[in-house]
Amino acid sequence: MNKSKKNLKDEKRIYVRELKTTKYLKKLMFNYFIKAQIFSRIPWKYTAWTTSAFPIEFLWAYDIYPLHPENSATASGARKASLNLIEYAESLGFSRDLCSYFKTNIGAFDKKINFTIGGINKPDFCCTTGVICDTHVKWIQTQARRMNVPLFIFDIPHEVAGTDEKTRELYVDYIVEQIYEWQDFIYDLTGRKFSEKKFYSVLYKSDRLCELWQEIYSYRKLKPSPLGFNDTFAQIFPLVLLPGIDAGIKYYEKVLAEVKKLAAEKKGVIPNEEYRILFEGIPFWHKLKFLYDLANLNAVVVYEPYTYAFGPRKPLGLSVEESIRAFARLWLQQPYYYNLDNRIPYFEKVIEEYKIDGVILHNNMSCRPNSTGLIDLKNAIQRDMGIPVLIINSDMNDPRQYADEIMRNRYESFIELIKQNKKK
Ligand code: SF4
Repeated sequence: MNKSKKNLKDEKRIYVRELKTTKYLKKLMFNYFIKAQIFSRIPWKYTAWTTSAFPIEFLWAYDIYPLHPENSATASGARKASLNLIEYAESLGFSRDLCSYFKTNIGAFDKKINFTIGGINKPDFCCTTGVICDTHVKWIQTQARRMNVPLFIFDIPHEVAGTDEKTRELYVDYIVEQIYEWQDFIYDLTGRKFSEKKFYSVLYKSDRLCELWQEIYSYRKLKPSPLGFNDTFAQIFPLVLLPGIDAGIKYYEKVLAEVKKLAAEKKGVIPNEEYRILFEGIPFWHKLKFLYDLANLNAVVVYEPYTYAFGPRKPLGLSVEESIRAFARLWLQQPYYYNLDNRIPYFEKVIEEYKIDGVILHNNMSCRPNSTGLIDLKNAIQRDMGIPVLIINSDMNDPRQYADEIMRNRYESFIELIKQNKKK
């Protein structure tokens, strides 16, 4: 056994600091989940299952309470409950190759597990979009059928490399048409009409939330970074579920105050920040301790396109028609599903701004849209930026795809490469 490997096993692990305000987040999440339990049972309250990249603002604008099977699946992963649920879904015939979030949700719903480990109630209806992946559509279609509830799907075109402005405008027309169909769908189901006033109020609050998020995030450019991946993967909760209401804004104001204070005191996430990492992809929820393995090597993750992507600023100050068009345009282009033409310059800009020493790309067995093009991305970054890039094959919710010792070896070799590279 080489010395460094022995060190990782035998020595006391490095302390990775967590924000103090995280305790308020736990309260915020608990309140959200308790309300979800109650509203699912009250006949005059409406709840809807939805997925990432669906504009939750379209639900809050009608006071419809969003339930998020993907978000609940992450709780199953983090609480080490996902494997059992995935294996249950596979026993029903769902293939091992399918997204592990989907299979976690099948197990969580059928087995009626507690919300603290990823359980989720039956909604009044489901809504989704295929803008990120085909999984979302097939997943929600399958579950809507199994639960016998109505379903609305936004068909959002994919902007491939080279899409011109004329084609983009056609895409926007196509999306806008569907937004009007959505208004009819909601009216038929709930009797609630679209309210401009409510829509604007939700939009402004959503934008304020994202503005705060971007400001919080910008402090990660500092050395040492006052905010790590161990904070951001939890802190995205308000962006995922609460854009458009006050609760998330108040919370982010507290987070920003704490981050500013830590930055002024030059307090980093780990005691000795030497190597700054960009991590692309969803984290291994079942193995969040991988951040400690990096910390033991004096490495800290300071940027993740995944967590940043949840907070795009919203179009404000426009007429309703213009706002809807601007929203549709925004929907077409988000970092999580950038094509390679946009993804490479985006990464390279961030590498400069956040003084990144190395990049880890999670080749996620579940998430083909996020994992496609990683070899090209790796080659481009290494060529243009001259920093090492590591590709890891794993899965965000399926622990069968993660071997501790192998991963630690890979982190060690990667950090060694960064070290040599910095010496050059
Ligand atoms: S395929 Fe990727 S984006 Fe789609 S549900 Fe699974 S993890 Fe999420």
